[in-house]
Amino acid sequence: MIPYGRQSIDEDDIRAVAEVLRSDWLTTGPAVDAFEAAVAAFAGAAHGVALSSGTAALHAMMHVAGIGPGDEVVVPAMTFAATANAVCYLGGTPVFADVDPRTLLLDPADVERKLTPRTKAVVAVDYAGQPCDYEALAALCRQRGVALFADACHALGATQDGRPLGALPPAMTALSFHPVKHIATGEGGMVLTSDEQTARLLRRFRNHGIDTDARQREATGAWHYNMVELGFNYRISDIQCALGLSQLRRLPDFLARRRAIARFYAQALRGIPVAEPLAQRPGAEHAWHLYVVRLAEGIDRRAVFTALREQGIGVNVHYIPVHLHPYYRERFGHGPGLCPEAEAAYESILTLPMHQGLTDEQAARVMEALAHAL
Ligand SMILES: *Cc1c(COP(=O)(O)O)cnc(C)c1O
Repeated sequence: MIPYGRQSIDEDDIRAVAEVLRSDWLTTGPAVDAFEAAVAAFAGAAHGVALSSGTAALHAMMHVAGIGPGDEVVVPAMTFAATANAVCYLGGTPVFADVDPRTLLLDPADVERKLTPRTKAVVAVDYAGQPCDYEALAALCRQRGVALFADACHALGATQDGRPLGALPPAMTALSFHPVKHIATGEGGMVLTSDEQTARLLRRFRNHGIDTDARQREATGAWHYNMVELGFNYRISDIQCALGLSQLRRLPDFLARRRAIARFYAQALRGIPVAEPLAQRPGAEHAWHLYVVRLAEGIDRRAVFTALREQGIGVNVHYIPVHLHPYYRERFGHGPGLCPEAEAAYESILTLPMHQGLTDEQAARVMEALAHAL
């Protein structure tokens, strides 16, 4: 089976992990600092705070934003459940907004319709790997006194008008290093921010709400520490960060490969008019976490999906609109009709294999099998 996404691990990655295993620090050590600094520099942010997963990054982001019971946070319906779950962890209410049918990115006009006096924040998702319309979203949020954050778990390496993620308007930006994402740490995530105080609060939340870490105490020889709020153990290990650092060195090649596959698919899809790639926003350089096509009306997506799986092509569907999951239906009374564009898209989308290890021959096989199935 050609998977839709997969990590690429080489001997340098393995050596980096072996090296850290022989060192003094398996967690909360220098590899964490080095990884944070390297990702932040790559993404054009002043600070990076690494956590145990992208989900932990989103949770930390919502905590530092001060989300609590009674607060509403607008999120897109077309995303992975974790975006909305992070709001629920704090007792807040996720409010689902619809997406632009051409890009499946958060639609600023629907966000505006969903704002209420209780709205505290908007979390935009860079679906498939291209930045949202942050100019429009930031103008709206500024005008209404609402915070703007990004779930950029799909978008490491993307830019908008030449600006990297860390230089875009969201005050905090969450990343994931799950193996299907651009770089892998096994499990892992990060929050990017330009604000030092925000970074400090994120670090405190990831370490039980304690305001100093083990190395700081070792340096001062002090046994005393203050737990000043309820936090979590959301730390990431040096083992993971050593892998992440090594992967980050390979990221430019990974991105170039993903972009080459996207160009090949786009070219091949010109000959398959019933499967259309999603639109690219002007000025956006796509990071291609996912390659998603929309099948023309009347095409049986399930039949195409099954035929491709039978051919060994690991197609997938991203995503079931979050408000249609049983938890959200039961807890908030949601159902079909809340976000019609996301719901319609869900019926016709198909994710094709896209990862840096995909060969030309495999990419050609994907297109042949798709054309045949259609
Ligand atoms: C992967 C992903 C997450 C969660 O990341 P984990 O590292 O798996 O916890 C959150 N949001 C989106 C959009 C994602 O794709």
